[in-house]
This record gives sequence, structure tokens and C-alpha cells, in this order.
Amino acid sequence: DDDFWNGDDRTGEVKDKDKDKADRATNELVMDQRTRMILLKMISRGIVSEVHGAISTGKEANVYGAVLDPLDGTRPLHRAIKIYKTAILVFKDRERYITGEHRFKRGANKKNNREMVKQWAEKEFRNLKRLHAAGIPCPEPLELKSHVLVMEFLGNKRGYAYPRLRDATLSDEGTENPWRPVYIQLLGIMRRLFRVCNLVHADLSEYNILYDKNKLYIIDVSQSVEHEHPRALQFLRMDIKNVGDFFRRKGVDTLQDRAIFDFITA
Ligand code: ADP
Ligand code: MN
Repeated sequence: DDDFWNGDDRTGEVKDKDKDKADRATNELVMDQRTRMILLKMISRGIVSEVHGAISTGKEANVYGAVLDPLDGTRPLHRAIKIYKTAILVFKDRERYITGEHRFKRGANKKNNREMVKQWAEKEFRNLKRLHAAGIPCPEPLELKSHVLVMEFLGNKRGYAYPRLRDATLSDEGTENPWRPVYIQLLGIMRRLFRVCNLVHADLSEYNILYDKNKLYIIDVSQSVEHEHPRALQFLRMDIKNVGDFFRRKGVDTLQDRAIFDFITA
């Protein structure tokens, strides 16, 4: 009824204001002295040659394009650099993913926050290594220093990043829904992620999958959890639902969530 919606709107307004404020704060913090120093050292060590503009600016991290000019005169290589933000607000919904790992006494404490983002970056680095080792298409992790992660750039040779699955356009030749084989491909990836990597992505959706030429690439695995994590199966159900919802919107005749859960875990 009216009251319900009014109340909801008010909450939305407050949230938006807070969010704007947080975005400003984090954007100012992201290229702080430490970050610039880390990037400079990476440049002097020949890990990258140039850092370009942001591919993405998110709540928790920015992703930048970068180029490495090999000294042997071979063609420049594209890189992606994910730089985690150290502002406080963004950690609120992160805690539930942590388990059995060193916990920090939380509070408005810059040092603790820096330690925390370092952990997230490290987690993403390690998880990407696992995926890569298991042959799951993802950016190859290349270098980690504190909250700065250098990885393979997923995009074309001209430096354009592949679209997220959400923004992908599939050529529909033939009569079959072209999203169907992509859906099946993703189910296989989810199963492999669970059974070979022992991981649940825990933020899987059309936003954290890149698409190019009928192939899917999994990204953004800093919050992924071991399948022994007490909430792993809950996260898995959430992932299954998000994926199902997306492909249903694309008109795919999806399997039941329950059946997918069994397929992945059994
Ligand atoms: P966030 O925590 O901000 O969601 P993501 O890891 O999802 O961070 O990256 C944000 C966006 O940056 C992605 O949606 C994608 O468009 C782009 N991106 C991330 N990693 C790469 C990569 N290795 N190559 C190309 N683009 C990338
Ligand atoms: Mn993401």
C-alpha cells in the first residue's frame, strides 16, 4: 500500500545520498600515494609500461587498462590492473564471506582497512590462479602487490575489453536460441569451479562474466569461497538463481535450480 512504498522511497533516498558520498570519497582515495608508488615500482620492474584510463570504476575497486611494451620490440601487450579501494563503507557486506581466516578488529581504522583490502586482493589473486590452473577461462593473474592486482587483459588487440555477458550481443543464426549453448557452457564452468577448484563464485551473474565469440570468461572472484565454507551452498543457490534468472529473460528454457544444484554438487 501507500505507506509501504513511501517508506521504501525514503530509504532509497538516504541510501543514494550515502552512496554518492562514498563514491566521491573512494574515488579520491584510490590513487593515493601508496598506490602510485606501487604502480611506479611495477613500471620500473617492467611489469607494465603505461597505465591508462579506468575500464571500470566500482564500489570496491577500479579496473584500469595498461600496456606492457616488451623490450624485445615485439608488439605491446595489454594488461588489466584492478586496484582495490581502501574506504570504509564498502566492507559492510563483505564480512559474511570471510571464514577461518585472520579477522580484523573492525572500526574506522585506516590501517585495518588497508589490511583488509590487501586480503581481498590476495584472495582474488589466489582464486584466479586456481581457476586458471583448472582451465576455467578467466584473466590470468600476473602480479600482486598489496591492493594492486595485475592480470591478463580480456579484450581485443586494440585494447577494447570484452563486453560483460549482460551487454553481449549474440548473432542468432539458425532457429535455436543462441543463448542456450552459452547457458550450457556456464553450467559446465560452475560445475568445474565447484568440483575442480573447490570454489563457489558467490557473486556470479551476467555482470561478472565477460563474453567473446561464444566463449565465457569468469571474473571478480575476490569473494569466492571454499565449498566447505558454512554458507557455500547458500551462495551457490544464489549464483544458480542469478544465472537462471538471466537466461530465462533471454528466453532460454532453463533447468530447475534444484537440478542444477545437484548437477554441480553431485
Ligand atoms: P568490481 O569489483 O568492480 O565488480 P570486476 O572484477 O567485476 O570488479 O571488474 C569490473 C569490470 O572491469 C568488469 O565488469 C569488466 O568490464 C572489467 N574488467 C575486469 N577485469 C578485466 C580484465 N581482466 N580484462 C578486461 N576487462 C576487465
Ligand atoms: Mn564485478
